[in-house]
Amino acid sequence: MIIGVLALQGDFDAHRRRLEELGAKVLLVKKPEQLDEIDGLIIPGGESGTFLKLLGEEGFEKLKQFVRLKPSFGTCAGAILLATEVENPKQVGLGAIDISIRRNAYGRQIDSSIREGQLLTAALKKGSDSALEMVFIRAPKIERVGAGVEVIATEGKDNIPVAVRQGRTMAATFHPELSDDTRIHQTFLDLVQQRQAPLSGSRAKRPSPKKL
Ligand code: GLN
Repeated sequence: MIIGVLALQGDFDAHRRRLEELGAKVLLVKKPEQLDEIDGLIIPGGESGTFLKLLGEEGFEKLKQFVRLKPSFGTCAGAILLATEVENPKQVGLGAIDISIRRNAYGRQIDSSIREGQLLTAALKKGSDSALEMVFIRAPKIERVGAGVEVIATEGKDNIPVAVRQGRTMAATFHPELSDDTRIHQTFLDLVQQRQAPLSGSRAKRPSPKKL
C-alpha cells in the first residue's frame, strides 16, 4: 500500500513524516502520472488557488479521475480542493465530497490558532468521543454537509464540523500533520486499507443462501 502526498506546494513533508511514523510507504507526488502508482492520496494545506494554477487543466482532470476512484484526504487547502462548492471567492472544486466550504472564514484576527476539538466515534474504531488538538491556519469553514457525509470531528461550542468523510474521501479544515496525535492519519490509512480489499470483505460477509 503506497500513500501519495501531493507535493506541489504547502506542508507536504509534515504529512510524509506522520504517515511514515505509522509505518506507511509514502510517495511525494509531483507529476500527474505518479497518481497511477499510489493507493491513496493526501492533498496538504497551502493555498488552494495556487494549487489550481500549479495543477493546470490537465493535472486537475487527472486528479479528478483519481479522487473519483481512490481514497483521498484533503487538509485545509486540500479540503477546499476536494469540495463540491467553494465560496469566498467562488472557485472550482474536484467534487469528491459533498460539502460547501468557505475560504478564510475566521477573519484575519484569528488567522491561526490551536484549539481543542472532539474526535467522534465515527473516526474511532471503538471508544467514545475524545479530545483532539487542532491547528487552524487561515482555515476554511464547512458551511454545508451533504446527506451522505459523515462528520468525524467537531470544534467549538456549536460543534462545527471540522473533519468529514464520504465514501472514499476525507477532508479536514485543520492541520493534523502539525500535531503529535496520529489518529486522523490512522483513520485515513484504515480507509485506504478497507478500500483495497472490498471483494474479499464482501465475500466474507455474504450471508449463506436461505433454505427453501
Ligand atoms: N486559506 C487557504 C486557502 O484558501 C488555506 C489555508 C491552509 O491550507 N492552511 O486556500
